[in-house]
Amino acid sequence: MHDIIIIGKGPAGISAALYGCRANLSVVVIGKDNGSLAKAGNIENYYGFDVPVSGTALVTKGVQQAKMVGALVVDDEVLDIEWDGQFKVKTKNEEFVGRSLIIATGSNRRKADVKGLEFFEGKGISYCAVCDGFFFRGKDIAVLGNGEYALQEVKDLLPLAQSVTLLSNGAPLTASFPESVKIIETPIQEIFGEMSVQGIRFADESIFSTTGIFVALGSASATDLARKIGAEIRGTSIAVDGTMATNVPGLFAAGDCIGGTLQVAVAVGDGAKAALTAISYVRKQRREERGEA
Ligand SMILES: Cc1cc2nc3c(=O)[nH]c(=O)nc-3n(C[C@H](O)[C@H](O)[C@H](O)COP(=O)(O)OP(=O)(O)OC[C@H]3O[C@@H](n4cnc5c(N)ncnc54)[C@H](O)[C@@H]3O)c2cc1C
Repeated sequence: MHDIIIIGKGPAGISAALYGCRANLSVVVIGKDNGSLAKAGNIENYYGFDVPVSGTALVTKGVQQAKMVGALVVDDEVLDIEWDGQFKVKTKNEEFVGRSLIIATGSNRRKADVKGLEFFEGKGISYCAVCDGFFFRGKDIAVLGNGEYALQEVKDLLPLAQSVTLLSNGAPLTASFPESVKIIETPIQEIFGEMSVQGIRFADESIFSTTGIFVALGSASATDLARKIGAEIRGTSIAVDGTMATNVPGLFAAGDCIGGTLQVAVAVGDGAKAALTAISYVRKQRREERGEA
């Protein structure tokens, strides 16, 4: 079991890893790519560089530094998390168990530009199979997505639903789905209904009747993951207090995923704070296990 699992190897996640490792705790950092910095070009406003540094170089140096102090850095995509006093983090390839978890997955991905999607949120549109799947038991439901994260949501829904249909909205499939899942790749024209979702109209005017659509586009975002274990969400960000703690014991969040000023310097600071709080949390857990006050 790891002391601290960190999802995200951007400035927030790597900064947290440095503090965690230097407190002599076991730290694993899981990241699927270089995050926002991969798109950032040159950074000229971060402390300590007298010449512009490329976003990619900054991430690469951070990852090297974290490895140097003992962090295990894993290139993988997180699909699911569970919490039962300990954290279970499921990736495409492995499962990790930790005493504490820091979510540092950057800002939320863009929502699909599908007519009706936003209007019906909470009225048939859900972003969390584990949270809302039960409401659609015995129903014909749909998952909007095309990759591993959509597959994870499909797997959570199959035992509950009468049927699950995957809607790729014109995108090519990047995961293989069970045979029992019907796949519709036609682009979506709109989601329609009155008080709640009644169905989907496709670009070719065909219609699929459903009362429930689970959105699982791209990778699991910070709020997708946080929702799965009951963490409070504020708008599009994870809600934290001044120490980066969420309402779930042992769960912390840092960087762009908590909103506010989206800058490297802020993410690095948040990551440090999250790690310091996680370190206290882990040490307290250990003392309690040893029967110490
Ligand atoms: C075009 C652009 C230019 C910018 N220019 C500047 C600038 O000049 N100066 C500045 O200070 N800031 C700049 N920023 C902002 C800066 O990049 C971010 O504020 C900073 O990177 C946030 O750090 P973070 O660690 O919170 O998130 P990110 O750097 O986005 O890192 C997120 C990490 O989470 C991982 N992740 C996400 N989902 C999953 C998942 N499901 N499974 C596994 N891993 C996952 C990603 O792979 C990545 O490792 C810019 C951003 C952009 C987009």
